[in-house]
Amino acid sequence: MDSDSKSAFLGISPYVDTPADLQASLNRDIRTDVAIVGGGITGLSTALALHKSGISTTVIEREFCGFGASGRNAGHLTPTICKDLPTAVMLFGNEKAAELAQFADHCVETTENMISEFGISCDYRQSGNIMAIVHPKQEARLRKAAATAESLGAKIRYVEESEMRERGVPGAFLSGVMEMMGGTLNPGKYVLGLRQAAISAGIPVYEQTAVTGITGDSSPTVLTGQGSINADKVVMASNAYTPDIGKPGHRICPLYVTLFETQPLSDDQLDAIGGWPGGEGIYTAHESMESYRLTAQRTIIGGAKGVKYFYGGKVAAHGSSKNASQEIVVGAFRDRFPQLKSLPIAHCWAGWIGMTMNFLPLVGQLSGQPSIYHSVAYNGHGVAQASAMGAIMADMILENDNHWMNTIVRKPAYLPPEPLRWLGIKSVMGVLNGMDRSIDNKARRGI
Ligand SMILES: Cc1cc2nc3c(=O)[nH]c(=O)nc-3n(C[C@H](O)[C@H](O)[C@H](O)COP(=O)(O)OP(=O)(O)OC[C@H]3O[C@@H](n4cnc5c(N)ncnc54)[C@H](O)[C@@H]3O)c2cc1C
Repeated sequence: MDSDSKSAFLGISPYVDTPADLQASLNRDIRTDVAIVGGGITGLSTALALHKSGISTTVIEREFCGFGASGRNAGHLTPTICKDLPTAVMLFGNEKAAELAQFADHCVETTENMISEFGISCDYRQSGNIMAIVHPKQEARLRKAAATAESLGAKIRYVEESEMRERGVPGAFLSGVMEMMGGTLNPGKYVLGLRQAAISAGIPVYEQTAVTGITGDSSPTVLTGQGSINADKVVMASNAYTPDIGKPGHRICPLYVTLFETQPLSDDQLDAIGGWPGGEGIYTAHESMESYRLTAQRTIIGGAKGVKYFYGGKVAAHGSSKNASQEIVVGAFRDRFPQLKSLPIAHCWAGWIGMTMNFLPLVGQLSGQPSIYHSVAYNGHGVAQASAMGAIMADMILENDNHWMNTIVRKPAYLPPEPLRWLGIKSVMGVLNGMDRSIDNKARRGI
């Protein structure tokens, strides 16, 4: 772990940096039909969908588009929804869970369509993703979950150990559930492709412009340091950062997630782990999962376990290397890939996801302020869901029918106030991490 712990910690991620064509910040008062707060996948897909319908829209982004989770994520394009489909059945019943499964497929398809519509070259590989076990003790539960998901119509199947080896999936991953829709992509190229599409379409994008507040109800005004935007409607697309701005941030738990990237694998190193020719994205069937994927540059990107919540849910004060979980994610990688013990870790980074109590995004209008719309907090599965939300938000604003609105617009789940929230999250995470540690100890000792 010595050289591992000395690996560089990146300020943003390996995928994005301040763009050469950074858009001007706002320095006057302007007017638009719809003002969008946040330039990640949600904000950009909403702006593009509204623009297509002839609505004037303006994106306001504190740093540059892609600075948030959209430019930092692990790049798994998945139809995962809620915590998983058995959890959806428990929370919402069979019928709703089946609708959510269909919605999740729609989200993946929408993302694929956007990649081709906007000609985004983002190393997308339609490889599918596998939720894999690392110890036989995880198998019965995963098979049960797979049977539930299949009965709801999810496009998945169980991949037995013999097929995992035939596929050349790294040996630590014994068997698993293959999500056949989706695969992996370079998130930076994807979100910067959406940014380019918005700028090319003539949509005003103000970067380095922090929203400090929103006033007024029927015709709200978005306030920034040196200017303001008066609009008919506002869309909050600020994800885990929303609690720092205002509502509906009080319904979101921001969690800090750490990832790493290795140096490129040599031919021998790739052979040693089975070749991984299908490049399937992998997440583990832990309570707090690990994720791994092979990139187009033959590096491995992984991480995800060891997520952290900080008291009060404010993100601004906590996004540092000190608070990241580098040792945990790199330690898990060393356990899963013993053949690669001499492969250096190139760097680590981290970003914020928004979690909700029912594991579904918060989509809708603020109660008492119906001109303020929001689509935030995808519980770590937003690459596909945030992409699909653009068209749905546009239809909601334009009062058009949209088949998916009833599926995804739900009454926000209750979230206890502090200190109960902090105590609750810490205790649940403590128990779940303990369960994972027990599996990992068994896997390590081969018992
Ligand atoms: C480490 C990590 C790994 C992940 N891995 C995956 C994965 O493999 N697959 C998957 O599906 N999902 C994954 N996710 C989740 C996914 O990235 C997000 O759900 C998705 O990107 C959300 O997009 P968004 O546009 O809603 O939010 P964001 O991309 O977070 O965008 C919000 C934007 O709002 C801006 N902003 C904040 N405050 C202000 C302000 N005051 N004024 C103006 N702008 C502001 C931010 O700068 C940011 O650009 C991961 C997330 C992280 C952090």
